[in-house]
Amino acid sequence: MSKNVLILPGDGIGPEIVTEAKRVLDLVNEQCSLGLEFTTALIGGSAIDAEGVPLPASTLDAAKAADAILLGAVGGPQWDTNPDFQIRPEKGLLGIRSNLGLFGNLRPAILYPQLAHASSLKPEIVSGLDILIVRELTGGIYFGQPRGIRVKEGGIREGYNTYVYDENEIRRIGRVAFEAARQRGKKLCSVDKANVLEVTVLWREIMEELSAEYSDVELSHMYVDNAAMQLVRAPKQFDVIVTGNMFGDILSDAAAMLTGSIGMLPSASLDVNGKGMYEPCHGSAPDIAGQGKANPLATILSAAMMLRYSLDAGEVADKIEAAVSQVLDQNLRTADIMSEGMVLVSTSQMGDAVVAALKG
Ligand code: NAD
Repeated sequence: MSKNVLILPGDGIGPEIVTEAKRVLDLVNEQCSLGLEFTTALIGGSAIDAEGVPLPASTLDAAKAADAILLGAVGGPQWDTNPDFQIRPEKGLLGIRSNLGLFGNLRPAILYPQLAHASSLKPEIVSGLDILIVRELTGGIYFGQPRGIRVKEGGIREGYNTYVYDENEIRRIGRVAFEAARQRGKKLCSVDKANVLEVTVLWREIMEELSAEYSDVELSHMYVDNAAMQLVRAPKQFDVIVTGNMFGDILSDAAAMLTGSIGMLPSASLDVNGKGMYEPCHGSAPDIAGQGKANPLATILSAAMMLRYSLDAGEVADKIEAAVSQVLDQNLRTADIMSEGMVLVSTSQMGDAVVAALKG
């Protein structure tokens, strides 16, 4: 049975990096008879230029119909001055996430041993790092009501937000994390602030309840302040981390920076059925767009995640990840991960190298 993949190149370096990921997907599609069919649509600034809105109805329809979505990146300075926030590129992304109910954000932080020098931590602490942060993406304090800025007694302005999760929201992200841990090192650390915040007391309770269903996964709990400290002290102690929207936002960026190379990091945002949107963690890098300097590996690794989590082709994902590692062993580097003695390559040359490694 064929599976439909929607490709959203987006803006800036988006089209360049997606082109390389698509070449990789075309090859494995043929090699492994995956039956993938591809469609392409506009999103972000390029959609604003062509159709006046960042998420045209045709793109949203195509996203709903697809089995999985691969996105490059959106945004750029030429669209940042529009006073109407609805006509900004980022609205395209947020629109897809909310319309498709993509609540589960998976962000691996992997440091290939070949790139250990790129981290701000000592190589022995970070080399070989392979952790996965599972972040709840559509709830918590970023969305809780009521919220706003009001004037209280005495004319004093007061800002307020509401940190709220119901048990169903906690359970569904918990399941994503337990399932992911089951496929990896079988260790799950749930991060909360249960010593201060009642909402995370409930979070902890639900994680404990779920753990009865996943007896093969070792569950632990950690307060968020300690988790931040442990991530920079001894990050390799973690396998999978699960946490709410705000803590996940902060911890996943810290974890990403442990790897020192934003051009290497993929991500996934999943719905309740495992359908997802896959994208690199970085943005559209307008400063290097169109120059052949962008690192396509984060997008290629996002395509691998897509095969693993949404298209039931985990072995093919393994092959792509091994090909990326092989290319790094060949000392090929785009500018963002370049170091002395390595060979500088362009975006398309890096894509060529991954394709060649897959052809064996
Ligand atoms: P950015 O991630 O685009 O760039 C930060 C720095 O990293 C730049 O120096 C850039 O050249 C470099 N970089 C990023 N990706 C790279 C790659 N693949 N290879 C080599 N170098 C790379 O972040 P920014 O500059 O803050 O934002 C630029 C635009 O991207 C903004 O419009 C922003 O809103 C948008 N953005 C989009 C997303 C997304 O689409 N998910 C995420 C973040 C930012």
